[in-house]
Amino acid sequence: MIKFLDLQKINLQYKEEIESKLINIYTSGWYLQGEENKLFEKKLSTYLNVPFVIGVANGLDALRLILKAYIELGIMKEGDEILVPANTYIASILAITDNRLVPVFIEPAIDNYNLDSTKIEAKITPKTKAIMLVHLYGQIVFNEQIIEIAQKHQLKIIEDNAQAIGAEKNGIKSGNLGDAAGFSFYPGKNLGALGDGGAVSCKDEQLATTIRTIANYGSNEKYVNTYKGLNSRLDELQAGVLTIKLKYIDAENQKRRAIAKRYCNEIKNSNIILPKYPDKELEHVWHLFVIRTSNRNKLQTYLTKNNIQTLIHYPIPPHQQKAYSEYSNISLPITEQLHKEVLSLPISPVMDIIEVNKVIKAINEFDN
Ligand SMILES: *Cc1c(COP(=O)(O)O)cnc(C)c1O
Repeated sequence: MIKFLDLQKINLQYKEEIESKLINIYTSGWYLQGEENKLFEKKLSTYLNVPFVIGVANGLDALRLILKAYIELGIMKEGDEILVPANTYIASILAITDNRLVPVFIEPAIDNYNLDSTKIEAKITPKTKAIMLVHLYGQIVFNEQIIEIAQKHQLKIIEDNAQAIGAEKNGIKSGNLGDAAGFSFYPGKNLGALGDGGAVSCKDEQLATTIRTIANYGSNEKYVNTYKGLNSRLDELQAGVLTIKLKYIDAENQKRRAIAKRYCNEIKNSNIILPKYPDKELEHVWHLFVIRTSNRNKLQTYLTKNNIQTLIHYPIPPHQQKAYSEYSNISLPITEQLHKEVLSLPISPVMDIIEVNKVIKAINEFDN
């Protein structure tokens, strides 16, 4: 079976380094808010070229905390609107509604699945306070138009960078394009921990301090609470592993690009629509390689029979989830079409040439 993502193989690449780090932390007796978290924050801040990085418990919390801090700072308030791509992972939306803010869904472009920036301005109202850019599947969504709209309407730009660590546009890394960004180190992400983990990056010191305080029970002095905070911290074991894996992220992303390039060049089947390979290859880190086909279920069954594991990202759009029944009557035709047609092929830094060959061959022989 060609696994969709072989996490065991990914993490065993660095076995000795990770094992000795884990043992050191275990024997040190210090498990939270210590030197490992500090070091990881510093390394990630240098990598991104962003002044402030705060390690947190997971990617959802990273996004929740950014919005919560903006509320505490008086920049946003309950009922304000946040523009967000309609086909994102549910966590982007949860971060918004958890803060009693209102998600305003924007349709994606069908050819690259990313937010269509020409559709932003029509959705702006006096209550709009931010655009959440989701670099979906690993591809940066950012352009001059987005900057102009944000400046004109005084909107914050928040990046959901859970899927695109290491991507860059014109020499600037994702996570450094807007005002603040949330990262996820869920094991399956391009930079994955051995459990949950996340981070916020931002350029504003006051925002950074507020986020750090909220994430630590709303306190920056023991037993003194400034905010009604959360407990959302990156533990030392995860931070230690992430510092090691961060050294290899560019090399790993480059391996993903090589596979994506082969899929784009060599998959030739009129039933299948490939994602566009970007002219500037650094703009994509291929967290997922997502194709479209009108007969998705048949293709998935066929690939399973050929020992190729695939997944669907995502089968149900947020506005059609039971959790968001208040949006069930809105119509988002592009989003809805994508959720019926998308299929994610195996891609990872540990896939070998033989496996890639097999995937290409099987898809080319698929007869709709
Ligand atoms: C994974 C993911 C998140 C949430 O990250 P967790 O660490 O799982 O909480 C948020 N947004 C997107 C787009 C994601 O893919």
